[in-house]
Amino acid sequence: MELLIVGLDGLSYNMLERFDIDLPYLNETREEGVSGHLMSVDTPTTIPAWTSFATGKDPGSHGVSNMLRQGPDYEVGPSEPNTTDAAAYDLFDDSVFVNLPASVGRVPAADNAHLVAAMLAKDKADAVPDHLKDLDAYDDYILDHDRSLKMRPEKYLDHVLEISTNRYRFAKEAFETYDPRVGFVLFSTPDWAGHILSNLSSDAKREQFYTQLVELVDEKTAQLAEQADNVVLMSDHGFEYKHTNIHLAEWLADEGYFVEEASATGAADVAVDAAKAVAKRSDRLYSVIRKVHNLIMGTEVGSKLESAASPQIDYPNSQAWQVRYGCIYVNDARFDHPQVDDPDALRREVRDGLRSLTTDDGEPVFRDVVLPEEAYADPGPNAPDVIARPAQHLFPTTLWSPTGGVTSPTSNYEHRYRGLFAARGPLFESGGATVEGMNIVDVLPTVMAALGDPLSPEFDGAVREETLASPGELSYLDADDVPAALTREDDLGSENRDEAVQERLADLGYLE
Ligand SMILES: [Zn+2]
Repeated sequence: MELLIVGLDGLSYNMLERFDIDLPYLNETREEGVSGHLMSVDTPTTIPAWTSFATGKDPGSHGVSNMLRQGPDYEVGPSEPNTTDAAAYDLFDDSVFVNLPASVGRVPAADNAHLVAAMLAKDKADAVPDHLKDLDAYDDYILDHDRSLKMRPEKYLDHVLEISTNRYRFAKEAFETYDPRVGFVLFSTPDWAGHILSNLSSDAKREQFYTQLVELVDEKTAQLAEQADNVVLMSDHGFEYKHTNIHLAEWLADEGYFVEEASATGAADVAVDAAKAVAKRSDRLYSVIRKVHNLIMGTEVGSKLESAASPQIDYPNSQAWQVRYGCIYVNDARFDHPQVDDPDALRREVRDGLRSLTTDDGEPVFRDVVLPEEAYADPGPNAPDVIARPAQHLFPTTLWSPTGGVTSPTSNYEHRYRGLFAARGPLFESGGATVEGMNIVDVLPTVMAALGDPLSPEFDGAVREETLASPGELSYLDADDVPAALTREDDLGSENRDEAVQERLADLGYLE
């Protein structure tokens, strides 16, 4: 194999430092090759980011900017995979992609290219094409984790370790069987581990849990790398400790940008209101409530309370709201009941208002608040209207605040923008070189240039020549020669895929 790309979902250097973890293969790659941070896209979440890796385009171009999407009728549901843009498996002949998120339903346009989809697939039969089901390792291949085990961290740990091992075996056999020029495999566990760290009771337990998971991934990466001349390690976003939640709903409601549906007050609403009232009177009780609030998020009980703690927005009668992760949508002509006469003016007004928000300590809540034309090369019609990028250690939730303020204390681990990139082998710069400011959209153009393949003229990303051993003259496909995206004709899964996917996203806290 000329090039192996290993995806390490959600891994970043700061988490390794935080838990004092030494990953031999990653370290060796950084020492012998070239490495740096890898900036994710808006939003820095798994589906938009891996779609950007696969297409070399930002979410403004490929249209998947969030884990969720909102239709013209205001209905919010899981994002759908991109079906229009040429992706790595269309561009690389002789390739094998194992567990690439948000690619379900696509058929590789390249010759002798094989694609196993991940997230947004219904189950493993939906994710794995028929001819790859013949591999011996298919029987033990596990598409996704069993969320019911999350309440028992020991069991969950064994379960996700098994997923990494079995995914390694599947990838190894697929690479041996098809002998690809380019191989890809994604290990999901760093992301899954990050999402349950706050359920563990002590830092020592968190360290032990996280260490075991990422060490196994590093070991399996090293074993797969034995089959490859060149290796790229990359993540789609990072993780970090969050000490503060941002409750955009509080500010948007205070400013009158959205109104809530008139509905009967349920028991859970009463509980949330009572908790807020108590919180305002007693610091001690407040801290108890906050702990409970943090502990139950991501559990089944939690999701019930969570939906009670989320604004029930009356969209047709509102002007602007957050969908998730700092993405604000304005009720303009894209929707069935537009309420805004001058959307551009409202976008600027919301942006400027969000820019001025500060924490109780007077620090800015957001690192940056931008309009889509500042975030994306060519924002399409589904792009968010305002994108608020949180400051370090702050996380934008969709929930009401337990204390009523725009920010509230938390203790949690969540996504951050900066992930990692490291590459080694004769095609890449060596000797511990570094690359600065690399973005996930740059990875595909960069590895294509490394291999001497002609680039797509459609890429938003750039070739990062400082990562290459000998950057040659770049060549480009003619616009007409960019492969057209192909989709499965009898896309059996799509009918009943939604429900399974909804459930999975709900489990990750993306959906109520
Ligand atoms: Zn991810």
